[in-house]
Amino acid sequence: MRRRIVAGNWKMNGSKDLVNSLVGQVRSEVASLDNGVEAVIIPPALFVSDVVRLAGGEIAVGIQNIACWDSGAYTGEVSAGMARDSGCDYALVGHSERRQLFGETDQQVAVKVGRALASGLNAVICVGETLEEREAGRAEEVVSAQVRRSVAEVGGDQWHQVVVAYEPVWAIGTGKTATAEDAQAMHAAIRAVLSALGAPADEISLLYGGSVKADNAAALFAQPDIDGGLIGGASLSAADFVSICRAVPGRS
Ligand code: PEP
Repeated sequence: MRRRIVAGNWKMNGSKDLVNSLVGQVRSEVASLDNGVEAVIIPPALFVSDVVRLAGGEIAVGIQNIACWDSGAYTGEVSAGMARDSGCDYALVGHSERRQLFGETDQQVAVKVGRALASGLNAVICVGETLEEREAGRAEEVVSAQVRRSVAEVGGDQWHQVVVAYEPVWAIGTGKTATAEDAQAMHAAIRAVLSALGAPADEISLLYGGSVKADNAAALFAQPDIDGGLIGGASLSAADFVSICRAVPGRS
């Protein structure tokens, strides 16, 4: 059975005050939901330990980026092992901001995915096309290639630690969202790519990300291949994040 996940990526936002006010509220409200959603908070790395402590094991915690290396002279980097040691369950890998602003390549993403999985983290692999690529009719080709290259180091029973987040670049932080039908079509295509690679595709959770809000989440999460969401801006409000968690349909 696929996990239903709603993960909040705080990006480089937040403060100790936000950690202290938001985590407890999300924790108690998510605990009262009966839809089986797994809530994940992905704060800036400096706040991970505080979020882990306040989450009390009832909300999962993630890190926004990990290094390509295990340890050594890489000033400013944080390894997957350190994230796991600090209580993280998830690592975001290949977010479009890392690809666009820091030049991260599919090859680096593949290495990071390998590091995350080997350290016992779940890897949330972010993929998505630009507006230019969509308008040129190349969205599925681009996303499929990103998926294939990003999972190059995944093997055997590691697939159960893999989550893929489809985030069209043009929808991130812009207020524009893919229609539920377009998002579903891309999720189905991603599942087909994973299946063709020999992965247990029906067991891999696929998330949609890109301007998900309380008022559009239900339509997206109702799609058969969309198993939850990766949420940016709306995850900085406890009320909005919990509303999105609530929008995950219960299992019959
Ligand atoms: C993101 O950063 O992954 C994201 C989806 O952001 P937003 O929800 O703000 O578009």
